[in-house]
Amino acid sequence: MMNDNFKSGYVAIVGRPNVGKSTLLNRLVGQKIAIISPKPQTTRNKILGIMHGDGFQAVFTDTPGFHKPKNRLGENMIKAVDESIGDADLAILVVEPTNEVSASEENIIKKIGKIPSVLVINKCDTTPRENLLSVIAKYNSLADFAAIVPVSARTGENVSELESVIKENLPKGPMYYPDDMVTDQSEKQIVSEIIREKMLYVLRQEIPHGAAVEITKMKYDGSKDGGMYNISANIFCEKNSHKGIIIGAGGKTLKKIGTLARQECEKMLECKVYLELWVKVKEDWR
Ligand code: GDP
Ligand code: MG
Repeated sequence: MMNDNFKSGYVAIVGRPNVGKSTLLNRLVGQKIAIISPKPQTTRNKILGIMHGDGFQAVFTDTPGFHKPKNRLGENMIKAVDESIGDADLAILVVEPTNEVSASEENIIKKIGKIPSVLVINKCDTTPRENLLSVIAKYNSLADFAAIVPVSARTGENVSELESVIKENLPKGPMYYPDDMVTDQSEKQIVSEIIREKMLYVLRQEIPHGAAVEITKMKYDGSKDGGMYNISANIFCEKNSHKGIIIGAGGKTLKKIGTLARQECEKMLECKVYLELWVKVKEDWR
């Protein structure tokens, strides 16, 4: 049945790395789908999350933050931002609660000028309320935002207000996706993101920006009680020395990555998981 009042649209979440875009997306969509990391630049792929609200549907694209291109990968990230703004009906610019607007934020503001945009001041749990007024005034002087909404993606504070603002600013439109769908990413992609997230977490500063994960096997075995997934993955790194770091003394580091990734996969897939990780050197995979 066609509902004339239904609203829908594509919403681009943009902002510098580490401002909390993925955390906010997960909050809005209600399921862990994007990588959250204490380190910047972990979201490499464009991830789609779908929010099903009362009388509306918002399809989110989570893009990596703007930064100067250093290599092809960097250029792709900027292209991803451009593309997601190009397709979008609404932009959400996520910033932190400070008065200092970085050059990359000013660039983003210029780019999103073409479509309606909402400014989200995230991490409001980290600053006293009275500080927000000057931040709001600062951004108000830079662009004509449809709304400015302070939130905390971490605590969930004011996120329901943001949901209403999103609905208000979406055009009338059809339900693009079935209402039980939260992402169009395949489970395989999500598993490889989980492995990458755990690798970054376990290795902290030590490693390799240039490491990629490839799932080589993902097979469901229904004969086991409660079901079980057999998953194999290759971790590609750039140098032999990186391989050593990822594996660790006596395989300890790799084991830790594997354990954390397996636990997260079991939660996501809701069954037992057998996870096998292989570390391989692939020079210049970029
Ligand atoms: P992204 O790079 O913009 O996608 O940022 P992430 O969502 O990965 O978050 C980066 C870091 O900020 C993580 O350590 C988050 O836990 C943290 N973070 C995100 N939202 C909030 C928030 O509302 N309050 C606080 N205190 N931390 C947050
Ligand atoms: Mg992210």
